[in-house]
Amino acid sequence: MSEPISTESKPKQASFKKLNAVKGMNDVLPGESAKWEWLEGVVRQLMARYAYRNIRTPIVEPTALFVRGLGEVTDIVEKEMYSFVDRLNGEALTLRPESTAGVVRAVVEHNLLYEGGKRLYYMGQMFRHERPQRGRYRQFHQIGAEVLGFQGPEIDAEVILLANDLWQAIGLKNVRLELNSLGQPHERLAHRAALIAHFEKHQRVLDEDAKRRLYTNPLRILDTKNPGMTDVVETAPKLMDFLTEASLAHFNALRQILDANGVHYSLNPRLVRGMDYYNLTVFEFITDQLGSQGTVCGGGRYDYLIEQVGGKPAPAVGWALGVERVLALLEEQGVTFPLDALHAYAIVPDAQSVPVVLKHLRQLRSLGVNVQMHAGAGEGLGSMKSQFKKADSSNASFALIFGADELANNTVSVKSLRDGGGAQRTESLEHMADWALSLQSTS
Ligand code: ATP
Ligand code: MG
Repeated sequence: MSEPISTESKPKQASFKKLNAVKGMNDVLPGESAKWEWLEGVVRQLMARYAYRNIRTPIVEPTALFVRGLGEVTDIVEKEMYSFVDRLNGEALTLRPESTAGVVRAVVEHNLLYEGGKRLYYMGQMFRHERPQRGRYRQFHQIGAEVLGFQGPEIDAEVILLANDLWQAIGLKNVRLELNSLGQPHERLAHRAALIAHFEKHQRVLDEDAKRRLYTNPLRILDTKNPGMTDVVETAPKLMDFLTEASLAHFNALRQILDANGVHYSLNPRLVRGMDYYNLTVFEFITDQLGSQGTVCGGGRYDYLIEQVGGKPAPAVGWALGVERVLALLEEQGVTFPLDALHAYAIVPDAQSVPVVLKHLRQLRSLGVNVQMHAGAGEGLGSMKSQFKKADSSNASFALIFGADELANNTVSVKSLRDGGGAQRTESLEHMADWALSLQSTS
C-alpha cells in the first residue's frame, strides 16, 4: 500500500546563501552608470564627427584567434585568458581579452574592405585573469577605434588626434602621449639578435619571465614592470637605430602632423605594447595620477594582423582606452559629470485617476520632460504627505499634483521643490506644450 500523497506542499525554509559577483568583476550601479552613459554619449558624438562607425562583435571568440593574433608569448595569451571548452561541441573558446582581433576577424569574415578602407569603433567589456586592484579588473571595459585599409602616416595621426580630442571633450587633463616606432618585421629581426646578445650578457639580473622570453620574444622583455631590470632594459639596443629609411620616414611624417597640431609627445624607445601584432607606430596615453595603472589608452599600427587572421593583407591602426581608468581619472581630477536630471515627480492622490494621469505623463515625456510617476510601495498609493516626501527625496525640480479638483478642471498643480519650494501654480493640461519645457529649468 502506498502512502497517500499530500496535496499540501510544505513551505520550504529559505536558506539560500547570498551570491556575490565574481572577484574582479564589478557591477556598475545607477549612480555610477550615469557617468558611463555620459562618456559613451560623448564618444559616439566625437566618432561621428570623425566619420567612424560602430561595430559590435561577440564576447566569445575561438581561442585560436587570440593565440594567433596576439602572439603566444604575451602576458594575455600566456596567463590572462578565460578559455574554456564548449561542453556541447568541444570547441575551444575564449572570452575576449581585447577587441582588435575580433574586429579584424569580423572585417575579414564579412569582406568589409572590399569597397575600401573602414573607420570603426567599439565599446564593451573585456576579460583578463589578472590580480584585481584599482584600475585593474578581470572584467573591464574598453572603447576602441580601429582603422583598416589605410597605409599612410596621416591615418596614424588621425587616430591619435581623435583620442586627443576625446580627452578635451570630456575635460580630462594630465595625460601625456608617448610614442615609438617598432619598425617592420625584418628590421626587428636584426634588432632581436642584438637584443638577445645584450640580455645574454646580463643573464644574472633577468627574472623568470625574461629568461623564458629571451629566445622566444626578447622584445617583450622591454615591457617589464620589474624595477630590478630597469638598468638592463635602459641600456638595451634601441630598435629605432635599426629602422630603415622608409620606417623612419613614416614616423617622421606622423611626428610632423602631430607637431603642426600642437600635440605634445615624448619618444619612448622602450614602448613595445603588450601584443605581438604591432608594427611601425605605437603609442600610449599615460597619467601619473592613477598609481601603477597609469596607461589610460594604448594603440598602434598592426599591418600584419589581417593576414594572420586569414584575410588579404591590408594595413591597419587603432587604439583602445580603459573606461574604468578614464572615469577614475576624471573623478580624481574633480570633473563634474553632467547627468540627466529628473524634472518632475507626479503626485497622484486618488488611485482612480491613475489611468488618465499616465496618459498625461506620457504626453509630457513626449514633450521632453523627465517625469517619475509615484507608485505605491505597499497597499494603495499612500497619503499626499507621504507622496510629497517621496517627491522631495527624488531630486526632481518640480512636483506635479494631479488631484481630483485639478483633473476635473483639466489642470495640474506645479510646485517647485527647490529652495524651500515656491508658490504653486496651475497649468492647463490642454495646453501642455506651452509650459512643459519650463519644467526642464533646474533653477
Ligand atoms: P597594462 O600595462 O596596464 O596591463 P595593457 O598594455 O595590458 O595595460 P592594453 O591591452 O593595451 O593594456 O589595453 C588598453 C587599455 O585598456 C589599457 O591602457 C588600460 O587602460 C585598459 N586595461 C587593460 N587591462 C585592464 C584591466 N585588467 N582592467 C582595467 N583596464 C584595463
Ligand atoms: Mg596588461
